[in-house]
Amino acid sequence: MSFKGLSGQKELRQLLTGMLSQGKLSHAIMLTGPSGIGKFSWGKALTLAILCLNNRNGEACLECASCRQFSSGNHPEFFLIEPDGRNIKIEQVRSLRTYFSLRGDKKVCLIRHAETMTAEASSSLLKILEEPPAGLYFILMAENTGLLFDTILSRCQHYKLQPLTRDEILNLLVNKKNMSADKAFLLTRICQGIPGHALALAEDEEFTKRFEEANALASSLVYGYDSTYHLLLKASSLADRDDLLPFLNLLCIYYRDCLVKYLCCNEELLMNPKIPLVQGVPEPVSRMVEVIRLINSTINDLTATNANRLLLLEKMLIMIQRRFTKCPG
Ligand SMILES: [Zn+2]
Repeated sequence: MSFKGLSGQKELRQLLTGMLSQGKLSHAIMLTGPSGIGKFSWGKALTLAILCLNNRNGEACLECASCRQFSSGNHPEFFLIEPDGRNIKIEQVRSLRTYFSLRGDKKVCLIRHAETMTAEASSSLLKILEEPPAGLYFILMAENTGLLFDTILSRCQHYKLQPLTRDEILNLLVNKKNMSADKAFLLTRICQGIPGHALALAEDEEFTKRFEEANALASSLVYGYDSTYHLLLKASSLADRDDLLPFLNLLCIYYRDCLVKYLCCNEELLMNPKIPLVQGVPEPVSRMVEVIRLINSTINDLTATNANRLLLLEKMLIMIQRRFTKCPG
């Protein structure tokens, strides 16, 4: 896929096509950003543009022999290194040497999850980066640059991929994936600008069911329907969910929508929450903010600590319901 086929990253697109068309592209590029942001897609588009025989204004033609070879996954001047198990090992970097001897003016080596290189592999790569063979380009991709050698980072031109705008994600889902506008709007709100998350949710068959269950639980907590005993049962059922984190994110969005509905009723809402709070309960805003913080804090504890999952969820459900039904304000 060429740059034109990719969504977002307007600045990156301009920079890369500008350098390609002027012949000023660095021999080592580092693309960083969270999982799902599109590093591999951009790395492949850049590879295609470097290897294209009829590159115009930095864009691959998609028609030449090189573009066709790359698209078929069979380009002799393209080399991909990915973790073998948990790490990229020195043997993988060393295997590049045979690749150097191949013919062709330009060659590209794409390194995925570069931060998983062992120290030996990093040192071996550094030696190549210090005296790069003519025509060899490296494109490294990493989520966490803190795990990379500073000496490798300093030899790369570093570009950080940015989250897509709401319109860019909507366009991706509606026009390229033929999704209905309603569902696309919903996923746009949840994916936080990360196209990979939006596409994964689009293919998640359980999503609609999870959405409805989160809606029902959030609503029941607002009304305070449940006894403590029933809340503990619900916490136990939550703790068993494989999709607990996305579920809690949906729960959070419900209360965020409560807040928006209370503060300004004109925004289009995902969950369209029906909240008794709007009619006269004092200080609903601070309570909703507190509940949103509580859920985020629970998500953080679940992901960053070894705290007991069930206890965290029991505490969260009881506190949410108390915030809405019994809290003195
Ligand atoms: Zn081409």
